[in-house]
Amino acid sequence: MINFKELATEFQTPLYVYDFDYMTQQFNALKEAFRGRKSILCYAIKANSNLSVVNHFASMGSGADCVSIGEVRRALLAGVPSYKVIFSGVGKSDDEIREAIESDILYINLESEAELGRVELIAKELGRVARISIRVNPNIDPKTHPYISTGLHANKFGVDLNRAKRMYILAKNSANLDPVGIHFHIGSQLTQLEPIRESAVIVSDLVRSLKVLDIELKFFDIGGGLGVTYKDEATIAPYDYAQAILSTLTGLDLTIVCEPGRFLTANSGYFLTKVLYEKQNGDKRFVVVDGAMNDLLRPSLYNAYHKIEAITASQSEPSKADVVGPVCESGDFFAKDRELPQLEHNDLLVIHSAGSYGFGMGSNYNTRGRSAEVAVQNGEARLIRKRESFEDLIALEKEFLPSAK
Ligand SMILES: *Cc1c(COP(=O)(O)O)cnc(C)c1O
Repeated sequence: MINFKELATEFQTPLYVYDFDYMTQQFNALKEAFRGRKSILCYAIKANSNLSVVNHFASMGSGADCVSIGEVRRALLAGVPSYKVIFSGVGKSDDEIREAIESDILYINLESEAELGRVELIAKELGRVARISIRVNPNIDPKTHPYISTGLHANKFGVDLNRAKRMYILAKNSANLDPVGIHFHIGSQLTQLEPIRESAVIVSDLVRSLKVLDIELKFFDIGGGLGVTYKDEATIAPYDYAQAILSTLTGLDLTIVCEPGRFLTANSGYFLTKVLYEKQNGDKRFVVVDGAMNDLLRPSLYNAYHKIEAITASQSEPSKADVVGPVCESGDFFAKDRELPQLEHNDLLVIHSAGSYGFGMGSNYNTRGRSAEVAVQNGEARLIRKRESFEDLIALEKEFLPSAK
């Protein structure tokens, strides 16, 4: 049990706390599901890109799935070997492509024909061969929130099957491209297995048809997206997930690459925020806290549900309240109509499942410094990111003031 009250006193609020032992468990559970098969787990850094978090996964043998060159640099800095780094994303700049090729990463996931052209050209300029994989859009509805669905033609991600095939042929005939993998990622917070299995069927059929053309791929990259329980969602068991994928690969000798983000970190994380006041507008009850949408955006962005635990001496009957932050937006809330006891100044609220897409989506809106981050491992807590100070926030602007000249 993590002593949240103690952590809030020691490190102040608002505060992110991550249970590293939980991350270890999740990593091992997924790794175990693929046991006996060649597989690499490449942690999707965007879920929680704190260097200590990435380093924690690297120390367990994880690779990294990156969606910007900044994330590639984070991965390498945190100790992920370059041969386990993947670079995905629909819009890579020339500079990013150049650096990725020079860093000798495992492969670049291509998401368009135009991108293939750029990567080829840049590899040629560098006198290098770029290892590539192509992200296929299988046009499957993942049955998740529309903002986090990615595997439909209506989404910007990946390329359709025919285009992918043409691209593989182009890549095979290029002196500067080496097609080594195939990739799909149909969405995030997936709680149904069938769309994943259907996608794997479609993509593995494409692998077979490429084989006929003498294009032999090595990596079958199944993306990430495994869902987690925020409220009461039933999720996919890692074993069933692995079996569903593997069942589509008979006769193929491929290394499975899996890019879990949320599955590894979401439920490792807690966001700690203190109650400032209670207020009432007519019949409506509000609990105003010191954390805000600039710290944890998911409720505002997706209307996401996060369990909230109140640490309080209050014995009062719970009643419905909106939990809101100090930011000047009506969208600044953590929960609506949540049953909570009457709260006092300095009572602590623990917002659960905040380990993925929490800190990383944060901003400095309203000139609020980002929270500190703390790791808990083997019963010990340690700071892994300092709280941002006012000086940090203005550092890049200050010198431009007339008075600074
Ligand atoms: C976001 C993303 C992931 C991770 O998604 P989760 O839902 O956090 O597992 C994996 N691969 C790609 C390409 C992504 O964009």
